[in-house]
Amino acid sequence: MSVFDHKEFDNHERVSFWHDKASGLQAIIAVHDTHLGPALGGCRMWPYSSSAEALTDVLRLSKGMTYKNAMAELPLGGGKSVIIGDPRQIKTPAMMESMGRFVDSLGGSYFTAEDSGISVDDLHSMAKQSKYIAGINAKYRYDGQPSDGNPAPSTAYGVFVGIQAAVRHAFSSDLNGLTVAIQGLGHVGYRLAEHLHKAGAKLVVADIYRDNTARVEQAFGATVVPAEEITTYPADVLAPCAMGATISEESVNMIQAKVIAGAANNQLSTELIGEQLLDRGVLYAPDYVINAGGVIDIYHQRFDSNPDDLKAHIERIGDNLSAIFTRSANEKMATNRVANLIAEERFKHN
Ligand code: NAD
Repeated sequence: MSVFDHKEFDNHERVSFWHDKASGLQAIIAVHDTHLGPALGGCRMWPYSSSAEALTDVLRLSKGMTYKNAMAELPLGGGKSVIIGDPRQIKTPAMMESMGRFVDSLGGSYFTAEDSGISVDDLHSMAKQSKYIAGINAKYRYDGQPSDGNPAPSTAYGVFVGIQAAVRHAFSSDLNGLTVAIQGLGHVGYRLAEHLHKAGAKLVVADIYRDNTARVEQAFGATVVPAEEITTYPADVLAPCAMGATISEESVNMIQAKVIAGAANNQLSTELIGEQLLDRGVLYAPDYVINAGGVIDIYHQRFDSNPDDLKAHIERIGDNLSAIFTRSANEKMATNRVANLIAEERFKHN
């Protein structure tokens, strides 16, 4: 297994491996870039089939965090950690404490937080061994309400602000009377539906669970369609808020919405889909730009801020997207490519 000549290496500053025999912890921390500040990125626990697979994942995710944090105007670099193993089978508090010692051993160049397979309780175990654990002890939401620690309200608000910016660019209008198709009504999708409903949008929704769609149907008068029809529904806006790769070689030519803007990570199955969307006149809000409300929330909770500053910061997602849309139109470059260029301008020249 090579590191320096790995295809995802991309000039990572640091890649550390940790094995703790007593707790069984095998983990990797990757720090991609710290020009803008210490790296922040979640810890993922997953039953990787090999350490090579875990390395590929952590390198890819860590680089992604550099771009996301830079675009979100955070004074933070990008990093990520992975733990090898099935969280339902082998995770123990002792293992999480060992992970805390691993994070601590980097002396503050990397802050960790929640990701798949890691809960807030796990972060509390890590925090017994390190002060470099974020995403715990959240005090407030962006609207001043007390927080239960879930960053989804901030993510949903950021996506809503981002959809407003996209709609202004594509239709020169607000959301009133437009139809928005939401794929996935979980933590983010449900809250997004609420914002859109209040703004006068008509909602068409899908989820694989009937109770999730029923809630939105009752609360906001949404029209429910089968999950396999939502991506190609003739709506004004498509908001993917479920899993990744919704926009693929198969679906891209069947999409009827003029705007794609939602919370899901990795919405395009490949970066090349961005050019196809540009050619078809579909405005795509790059996923890591529009869904940054959660990481912005984690940053503000961690670094002693307040709800007003958090809210104002989330609202800058709209300005960031407007700048991307304008540059994309002027330079005839796909929005996902423009986002990458702007992020690189920020972290490479600092
Ligand atoms: P969630 O698991 O709470 O909700 C996802 C929903 O999508 C579930 O209700 C699920 O039933 C539904 N779903 C799954 N497959 C579907 C399909 N094929 N068609 C329709 N619905 C389907 O997750 P979440 O926290 O709401 O996050 C949604 C997306 O946003 C994820 O991709 C996540 O990675 C991303 N995201 C979330 C946050 C956050 O703060 N929660 C931050 C950034 C990005």
